[in-house]
Amino acid sequence: VAKHEGKNCYHLFDTAQNIAMQIRHDDLQSMRKALDQSEFVLYYQPKVNMRTGAIIGAEALIRWLSPERGLVGPNEFLPAIENHVISIEVGEWVIDTALGQIAAWQELGLDIPVSVNVSALQLQHDGFVTCLAALLEAHPEVAPSSLEIEVLETSLIDDVMQVSATMLACIELGVTFALDDFGTGYSSLTYLRRLPASLIKIDQTFVLDMLTTPDDLAIVEGVVSLAKSFKHKVIAEGVETIAHGTTLLQTGCELAQGYGIARPMMAKDIPEWSVNWKPDDAWREFSPHV
Ligand code: C2E
Ligand code: MG
Ligand code: MG
Ligand code: MG
Repeated sequence: VAKHEGKNCYHLFDTAQNIAMQIRHDDLQSMRKALDQSEFVLYYQPKVNMRTGAIIGAEALIRWLSPERGLVGPNEFLPAIENHVISIEVGEWVIDTALGQIAAWQELGLDIPVSVNVSALQLQHDGFVTCLAALLEAHPEVAPSSLEIEVLETSLIDDVMQVSATMLACIELGVTFALDDFGTGYSSLTYLRRLPASLIKIDQTFVLDMLTTPDDLAIVEGVVSLAKSFKHKVIAEGVETIAHGTTLLQTGCELAQGYGIARPMMAKDIPEWSVNWKPDDAWREFSPHV
């Protein structure tokens, strides 16, 4: 059913006027083939509460399992198609697959909300809300609140009013939003005030450098307190070590994602990981931040 709905969604996009057609023929061919032959795969990276040990969700990250090139990361193929209508179709596949995965985990008794990354083009595209509604309808067993949409802070410069209206329409459907790579854009403060996002994701570059660079620590502290005063949740990306986590907990940031907790993994590995994962003892000693 989802497949069928998906195809219908795609027709909405087929007639789109405003999408540039600049893409290398070879790239288009290989992405077309990747879609048709199911060569794309979603990996999932857990998001946790470092203090309580709770698993709060997982981020879906696309990979291309190319017969010729092996496992290819998103930064190596998404930029090539970002202005082409096929990227809309890939984005739709991501949401459909993520919803199917939430349902599959539910059947195993696991309640794991999933976040998907959505490009600015996809979000600002006319058919996005209709398509999202159709995909949610095609997965009636999944609560819309189990789906979170991550949008890059840097990608939202075009039209904050329009983006904000689209986000509100999606929120009506029950999904939530996260601002990804927060702090790397030029208008972070404006976005924080004007966009209806529930979660702020501190960009990993600040987290990775905060232990050695006081300015980066200051930015992390600033974003955490800002998020709190605006009543947004805040999560740190790029937690590679225990020390990263400990420093974040000192700033009041409990939610985290990073190689030090778990690398992105195949969906089939999530159940076993979630049974075995325990936060570091040093992290457990923190009391709730007020
Ligand atoms: P992102 O959404 O900011 O995702 C975080 C990236 O950092 C992922 O790379 C992840 O594997 C990596 N990462 C996670 N923890 C750590 C860590 O502790 N240290 C370091 N150094 N890196 C860490 P990945 O999977 O290569 O994805 C790169 C970007 O591609 C993503 O950045 C996202 O913007 C984009 N992307 C991924 N999947 C999709 C998708 O389905 N659709 C769209 N439009 N974009 C996607
Ligand atoms: Mg992301
Ligand atoms: Mg990010
Ligand atoms: Mg990123």
